[in-house]
Parts: sequence; structure tokens; C-alpha cells
Amino acid sequence: MNKKSNRFETEAIRTQLERTEFLEHTSPLYLTSSFIFEDAEDMRASFTEEKERNIYSRFTNPNTTEFVEKVCQMEGAESGYAFATGMAAIFSTFAALLESDDHIVSARSVFGSTHTLFTKYLPKWQIETTYFDVTKPETIEGCITPKTKILYAESPTNPAVDIIDLDLLGNIAKKHNLILIIDNCFATPYLQQPIKHGAHLVIHSATKLMDGQGRVLGGVTVGNADLIREIYLFARNTGPALSPFNAWTLSKSLETLPVRVDRHCENALKVAEFLENHSKVSWVKYPFLKSHPQYEVAKKQMKQGGNIVSFEVKGGIEAGRQFLDAIKLCSLSANLGDTRTIVTHPASTTHSKLSEEDRLEVSITDGLVRVSVGLEHVDDIIADLEQALG
Ligand SMILES: *Cc1c(COP(=O)(O)O)cnc(C)c1O
Repeated sequence: MNKKSNRFETEAIRTQLERTEFLEHTSPLYLTSSFIFEDAEDMRASFTEEKERNIYSRFTNPNTTEFVEKVCQMEGAESGYAFATGMAAIFSTFAALLESDDHIVSARSVFGSTHTLFTKYLPKWQIETTYFDVTKPETIEGCITPKTKILYAESPTNPAVDIIDLDLLGNIAKKHNLILIIDNCFATPYLQQPIKHGAHLVIHSATKLMDGQGRVLGGVTVGNADLIREIYLFARNTGPALSPFNAWTLSKSLETLPVRVDRHCENALKVAEFLENHSKVSWVKYPFLKSHPQYEVAKKQMKQGGNIVSFEVKGGIEAGRQFLDAIKLCSLSANLGDTRTIVTHPASTTHSKLSEEDRLEVSITDGLVRVSVGLEHVDDIIADLEQALG
């Protein structure tokens, strides 16, 4: 992948496929399952990979290549591969890199399905995971064993919006020769670039802020070229590829990522400041509020605070449910990172099957509400939250 030197916003727009004879302005959609060969020699050379070219869209397709190139530019990565969903990216990355009996050290608060992967599926291959508490990074090294191969985390975390020091993780990974993988979904490469802090691989659910408009699913893993090669070979043979249409959509979405994320963050900070001063709210967590326990770390590694605000409605589970019932403008949805503001109450929905004790382990208190702040006028978002708080 050729590295270009324009600024982030420019590359987000100008990284694109070579133009065809039609001199189209925007990249066309290559809705084709396969590609043809000129002759027997072309076919032979393509299959032995002497020639870099598209063969079959399960392997590569011009649209997925364009999307991956953009993400590589943004993350400062050598190489990457695009997947149908964020979970396909996460599963394929682990499946490609781990052998049975390997060990993972992971932050305890990770995306729900990632947690299920660690607790239910990877143990089928004797791959075990030890969790650390993101608010106690001094405990991480104690989790490492001679079998540990991967160190894994998200920052900011979901839904508690805790921040973990990426430089610290980078140093631990280096010292113990571990592969550091960061799920950078909540920050996007516009706000934070984990590779600069020592991550070997960065994973995204492109479904969230990358598309940012609630239209398509997608995922991507980028980073070290040798590791990506393993992931690519696994994916090429097992079939989790991103569709050309979704890749085309996502490449267009990335063109507006910087302006969208700027506004998301501006709105989120105002929402957080409003909630912090409300009498029915016991606490608010947002990385760029001075009251956030890891405010200094957030300032050091993030350009802005992201679009997720979490807060506690006074009165526990019932108060949380009542708040959701009173919401008028915002959407009740399990998604996040959309133009539309989304409000969720994890204790009564996504995490209702956990005991209160288990929920507390991942910082989900009974009245915790997660807001994915959207792009509506911030005064309208705040007015809705205000009337719902009563
Ligand atoms: C949504 C999400 C995922 C999973 O992505 P899908 O595209 O839904 O498969 C992984 N990690 C984080 C942090 C997410 O928010």
C-alpha cells in the first residue's frame, strides 16, 4: 500500500481506486463475484500470487480494497482485510492467530459478543481468557502466563466509557512479546490511532461511526503486514468477506468521517455538561469531562471525547426504565454511532441476563443509561433528555 502524505481529511476523500477509461469522479461499484484471466499464463501467475490482482470477491474486490486502503491510511497501518461485520473481523483475527492452548489477556469490559466469543467459543479449542479491570491497569502483568499470546482491549469501553492508557498497553505488549489488539470502534481513527501507541492490530466494527448512518454492516482489521497475511489467508478460505456494495458505501462514509465525528463530539460534550448539572442524575461519564477518572489519559491519547455518554439516573432499574419510556425524539435501539441519537438502558436490556454482581464487574449499575449522541441539533437532543428526566 503506497503511503501518501496528505492530511487525514484529504486522504479520507482522495484515497481511491485508479480511474477507469470513463474518468468517473467517484469510484464505481464492482458488483462482480469473480474476475477473468487473459490466458493460461495469467491464470497460473495469479494463483501463485506472482501477480497481485483480483480473482474472486471472497478474496479481494476493488471496492473492498479501496475501503481497506482508506482505513490503513487513517490508522497508519501497513495492511488490512475487510469483513462482513465487526464480529467477523474479531473472530477471524483470533482464529487466524491462535493455536489451541494459547491464552488471551483481555480487558473485562469488552463488547458483548466478544465476551461470548471468549467465554463460550474459544474454550472449545482450549483457548482461555483472563480478564483485567480497566480501572486497575497495574493488575495486567499479573494476568500474563507463558501461554499468553494476545493482549486485547477497547478504549473507550462500552458502556461505562472507561479509558485505558494505550501507551501502557503498548509497553506491556512489547515487554512480554504479546500481540496487542485494540478494538478502536468507539474512538475511530480520527480521534485515536492505537498503532502509534504500540498496537499490532486495530479492529473496527465499521457498522458504527465509520458508516455512521445506520445503513450497512462491516468490519475491518488493519496493522502489521505479516499478521494481516495470516488473517487474510484464514478469511480467504473461510469466507467472512465484506460485500462490494457495503465496501463502496463505507468508502463514501469515510469521506465524511472527520466532519461527522467533530459534530458528534461537540454535541456529546454539551450533552455531558447538561447531565452533569441535572439534579436527577447521580453521575455522568464522558472522557473529556474533567470529572472523568481517566480524563488526563483521554486528553493524551484522544483528539476529542467521542460520542458516547453514560450516566446514572437516580432511582435504579425502575427509574432507568421510566426514563426510556419518556423519551420522545431519541431512538431506543441497540445500535450506536448513528446520525440519530440512541438511548439504551443496559441493565434491563443487553445485560439483563447477568446478575447485578456480574453487571457491576463491568461497571453497569442499575440506573446506567448509555447515550450515543447523534447529529440532530444539540438543543433538541438536550430538550428530549430533559423532559424524560422529568
Ligand atoms: C458493534 C461492536 C462490535 C461488533 O460489530 P458488528 O459490526 O455489530 O459485528 C465490536 N466491537 C464494538 C466495540 C462494537 O461496538
